[in-house]
Amino acid sequence: KLDVRVLRYMSSEEFRVLTAVEMGSKNHVIVPTSLIAQIAGLRHGGVNKILGELAKKKLVAKVKNSMYDGYRLTYGGYDYLALKTFSRRGSIYSIGKQIGVGKESDVYLVADEEEIQSVLKIHRLGRVSFRAIKAQRDYLQNRKTASWLYMSRLAAMKEYAFMKILHEHGFPVPKPIDQSRHCVLMELIDAFPLREVIEVKNPGKLYSDLMDLIVRLASYGLIHGDFNEFNILLKEDGEPVLIDFPQMVSISHPNAEWYFNRDIECIRTFFRKRFGYESVLYPKFNLDVNR
Ligand code: ADP
Repeated sequence: KLDVRVLRYMSSEEFRVLTAVEMGSKNHVIVPTSLIAQIAGLRHGGVNKILGELAKKKLVAKVKNSMYDGYRLTYGGYDYLALKTFSRRGSIYSIGKQIGVGKESDVYLVADEEEIQSVLKIHRLGRVSFRAIKAQRDYLQNRKTASWLYMSRLAAMKEYAFMKILHEHGFPVPKPIDQSRHCVLMELIDAFPLREVIEVKNPGKLYSDLMDLIVRLASYGLIHGDFNEFNILLKEDGEPVLIDFPQMVSISHPNAEWYFNRDIECIRTFFRKRFGYESVLYPKFNLDVNR
C-alpha cells in the first residue's frame, strides 16, 4: 500500500541512503552494505543505522547472501522515490483514493498544487506468476534473473511512450503527464469502464466506433492485442477511451492477423453477451488494413 505519511518523516540522510540503494541496484540485485556506504558517502556505522530505519519503514529489505550482507529496494522504497520525483517536478502534490487494482498495477487519484486531478498508475509486475507473463510480453523474454522493479519500470516507460505517440496522433487515450520509474501519471478520464456498463443508447454506433478504432490502429501499424471491456472506458457522451495497452504488437508481426482477429472477436463476444447485439459487419485483416 502507498503510505504517504512516510513521505513526510524522512531525513535528508535517509533519502541519501535510499537513493544510494537505488543506484547500487543498477548493478546488484542485492546491494552490499559497503557499496551503499560508499555511494552515500557516509561512514559504515552511520549507514547501518539509517538502513535499519529504512528497513523498519519497509523502504528497503535486508537480504543475507552467502557472500555478503546487503539490501534491496522494495516496492515501498521505489514508490517513495517516484513520488518524491513527481513532487519535486510539481506533477503531484497530494494523493487521493485508490481507484483501481489491476492484476499488475495500482491506480490512484492524485492532484497537483492547483488541485487539478490526474491518475497515477503504479506498475507492479511480479504479482502473477512469471511464466504466465513471460509467454505474453516480449520485454520479459531472454531475461534469466528477473528484477520485478526493473521490469515494472520498463512497463511504465513503454506505456508512457505509447500513450504519448497515440495521444499526439489523435487516438482516444488519456493524455500522458509524467513518468518516473514504475509510475505513469496521466489525465483523469471521467468515464466508466466498459465492463461496468449495463446498457448503451446505441450499441451499433459504439460497436462500429470500436471496430474503426481497431482498424485505425492497424493503419498506423499497431494491433492492441488485448482489446476488451477491461481496457476501454466509456464517456458520458458515448465516446470510448483506451486506457491500457500492455501488449501492443506490430502489424508486421508473424501472428498479426491472429491478434487482430482476437481483438475483433473479444468485442463481438462482449456485445453479443452484454447488449444482445450482433452484426455481420466486422473488419478483415487482409481487406481493411493497408499494409
Ligand atoms: P490494469 O492493467 O492493472 O488493470 P488499468 O490501466 O486497466 O490497470 O487501470 C485499472 C482501472 O483504473 C481501470 O479499470 C479504470 O477503472 C481505472 N483507470 C485507469 N486509468 C484511468 C484514467 N486515465 N482515468 C480514469 N480511470 C482510470
